[in-house]
Amino acid sequence: MLAAVTAASAKEPFQKVTWAPRSITVGAPCLFKIEMSAVPSSLEGKWQGRDLTFFSSGREHIWYGLAGVDVEAKPASYPLELDATMPDGRVLHEVREIQVRPSAYKTVKLNVPERFVQPGPEALKKIELDRELKKAAFSHQTPAPEWSGPFHLPMDSTVSEAFGTRRTFNGKLASIHRGVDYHAKAGTPVLAANNGTVVLAQELYYEGNCVIIDHGQQFMTLYMHLSRLDVTEGEKVTEGQRIGLSGATGRVTGSHLHVAVRWQGAYLDPTELWSLQLPVLQQASGSN
Ligand SMILES: [Zn+2]
Repeated sequence: MLAAVTAASAKEPFQKVTWAPRSITVGAPCLFKIEMSAVPSSLEGKWQGRDLTFFSSGREHIWYGLAGVDVEAKPASYPLELDATMPDGRVLHEVREIQVRPSAYKTVKLNVPERFVQPGPEALKKIELDRELKKAAFSHQTPAPEWSGPFHLPMDSTVSEAFGTRRTFNGKLASIHRGVDYHAKAGTPVLAANNGTVVLAQELYYEGNCVIIDHGQQFMTLYMHLSRLDVTEGEKVTEGQRIGLSGATGRVTGSHLHVAVRWQGAYLDPTELWSLQLPVLQQASGSN
């Protein structure tokens, strides 16, 4: 057994590079799994112009990275770049080309321009303030993942508007739906999709009462239009914990829950995330 591993490490340090789902589509979250023949001290990567820090859990030669492809990315072949730093200081480089396939997002042609209510000066001030608040929340840094196991639907409900729907007017793109809307009567408990840290919990002009959870390494879930907030910024939450109640706050026409998934600025399909098989992670730093 040892001889086989030694022979393999001499040939190919990146023994196996795989990903889930097997076919990656535009707007999909994905999990990369890198099996090394020798154990590196760190494994960094680049995907879609973003940095990835891989982590190992349990078996030290298997490394993972949770990422995705933005809803507006073009279907094409993209490189996954890997840099493994070995205990002796050598850096081993590897590139794998991965095909990103198109997604069948709905396009809705608008016959009249989308109704746009011009916000007044007070609202504009609030919108500008919100922009800064969101920017600060999105720049939150955690070196390691806080999620563990699969992400879960925040409430038992059905989709009222799908992710990625494009609205066009006069042949021009008017908007893209960067989340999923769920049917939700006001007052329905909204649950954290996974473990993480609350990086924003307050009322915003468009989003209404909004909660943003960083699940680690800027992989975040967003929950909007809540009638009540049950968490505060900086709080650690666990999967299934109630973070608030659904509602119709912000710029909406009726009560529903808008959920979004954001990885380093890329917006990903939440429904794809719920069905993604993810490993249960052991608590980081020296648990084994
Ligand atoms: Zn929505």
